Amino acid sequence: MIKDKDPKIFACISNELSRQRNGLEMIPSENFVSLEVLEALGSVFTNKYSEGYPRKRYYGGNEFVDDMEELAIERAKQLFGAEHVNVQPLSGSPANMAVYSALMKPGNKLMGLKLDHGGHLTHGHPVNFSGKYYNIIQYEVDKDTELLDYGAIRVLALKHKPRILLAGFTAYPRQIDFRKFREIADACGAYLMVDMSHFAGLVAGGVYPNPVPVADVVTTTTHKTLRGPRGAIIMCRQDLAKKIDKAVFPGLQGGPHDNNNCAKAVAFNEALQPEFKTYAGQIVKNAVALAKTLKSGGLRLVSGGTDTHLLLVDLSGLGITGKDAELALDKAGIYVNKNTIPFDKESPFVTSGIRLGTPALTTRGMKEPEMKIIGDLIVRMVNNTDDERIISEVKSKVMELCSKFPLYKELSEKY
Ligand SMILES: *Cc1c(COP(=O)(O)O)cnc(C)c1O
Repeated sequence: MIKDKDPKIFACISNELSRQRNGLEMIPSENFVSLEVLEALGSVFTNKYSEGYPRKRYYGGNEFVDDMEELAIERAKQLFGAEHVNVQPLSGSPANMAVYSALMKPGNKLMGLKLDHGGHLTHGHPVNFSGKYYNIIQYEVDKDTELLDYGAIRVLALKHKPRILLAGFTAYPRQIDFRKFREIADACGAYLMVDMSHFAGLVAGGVYPNPVPVADVVTTTTHKTLRGPRGAIIMCRQDLAKKIDKAVFPGLQGGPHDNNNCAKAVAFNEALQPEFKTYAGQIVKNAVALAKTLKSGGLRLVSGGTDTHLLLVDLSGLGITGKDAELALDKAGIYVNKNTIPFDKESPFVTSGIRLGTPALTTRGMKEPEMKIIGDLIVRMVNNTDDERIISEVKSKVMELCSKFPLYKELSEKY
C-alpha cells in the first residue's frame, strides 16, 4: 500500500481527498467519479499494450481488452445514437487534433468560436496547435445579447468557406441550435463538427439537444458532465469512420490507455441508467437556482442566465477582476475559475469574470436550497474580497455545508 511504502505521495493523495471533501467544487469542467470508475482506472488493464482496434491488434494477449473496448463502443453508441465511435483519444485536445488531421490538411480553413467568447483553445487560438497549423476564422457572440448570432455566422461562413465549421464551447451558458449550424455548413460546403466536451452529460441525460444525429463528427471529453475518467471519444458517420480511426492510431497516438477506456465503459453504463437523467436534470435546475440567487444579489450574468450546467459572472461593475474573485473564493474553500467574458478588456490571466458550474455539487447531492446558500456566500465574497474576517466566516459556512454532504465515505478506511 502507498500508505506504508511511499508516505510522501500518500500525504499528497489524502490531502487532495480532504480538499475535495471540505470545499465546494464549482469548476464546471470537474466532477466526482463513482468508486466503480476509480476501481476500473486502477485495474490491471493499465499493464497492457493494445495498439490497433478490437480484433485487429499489433500485440498478442488482447482478447479481454477487445471485449472491454467493444463494450465501451457499444455503450457510447447507445448513449448518443452514434453510427461509429472511437474510444481511444487520450483527452479532449488530442481528440480534436485527430479530427482536424483526419478531415483537413495544414493551411485549410477552420471556423470556430473565439476563446474570450466561449470557445476552447483547440478551436483556433494562436497559441494552440489549431491556430498554428490551420487557417483560422473566428466568430463571436452578439455584443448586446451575448448569444450566438446565426445570421452573422452564416455571412462569415459563406464568405470564407471553411473546411470545418465547429460548434460547441467551453464557456457558453446557453443551448445551441445544431440544425442552424447544419444548414450553414451545408450552404458553404463545410463539415459540421461539434465539440460537446462540456455538456455531453446533459445530452446523455436528455436535457440538452443531441448534436450526434445532425453533425458529421462529434468529440467529447468523458470527465466533465459525463462523470467518467479523464479522456475523450470521437463519434462520426459511418463513411468517416476509417479516416477518424486512422487519424487517432497510427496518426497521432500509440497504445490506448486501456484502464481509462475500461473506466469509460463503466461511466457510459452509469449514464445509461434512469438515475442519470435525474442527475442531469438536477444539474440544470441547480444552475438556474444559483443564477437566480446571484442576480438577486446584484451580480450580472453573461447572457442574463443559463440553460446549462454553467454560468459566467461579469465582475467588471464591482471593480474587481476574475483573478481577485478566484483568489478570495479559493481562500474560503469555494473553487471556481477566472474566465474571460465576451469583449473582455482584461487578459486571460486576469479576466473580468468567473465561471461557475453545478455538476460536482449535484453529484454530492446538493439541490436548490443549497444553491441559495452558496449563491449568497459567493455574493458576500465578491463584495468583500479583501476582508479576512468575512473570508473566514464564509469558510466555516462552507465546511458546515460540506459536512452535510459527505464525499467518498467508503474511502475513509483507506485514507
Ligand atoms: C475541456 C475541453 C477540451 C479539452 O479537453 P482536455 O481533456 O482538457 O484536453 C476541448 N474542448 C472543449 C470544448 C472543452 O471544454
